Amino acid sequence: MVRALLYALISIVAISFLRMVIGIIGKGFSDLMKEETEASRAERQASSASSQAKAPPPPTRGELKACRTCGTYVVASRALTGAVKGETAYYCSAECKAKNAAA
Ligand SMILES: [Zn+2]
Repeated sequence: MVRALLYALISIVAISFLRMVIGIIGKGFSDLMKEETEASRAERQASSASSQAKAPPPPTRGELKACRTCGTYVVASRALTGAVKGETAYYCSAECKAKNAAA
């Protein structure tokens, strides 16, 4: 009877000890992982910042259209338009539009 109680006590102590050890290991591991991810994140941000500085992304606002007369690319919203054979033609300037109309 006393042996059973002793075994129970030992097992409780052993389980609590194991849980403490696992908790310490788990905490240490998670801290390590957190530090690692933060470091890698900072590194990634630094690398992305440097890549952005090297090659800035091209402006995505507005579609580029080639001038029908001279071939200069102009933003569609800022280009002069005219209908040629049922389709929309784009011109970089009024001169190009006049030239194309005359031709
Ligand atoms: Zn033009």
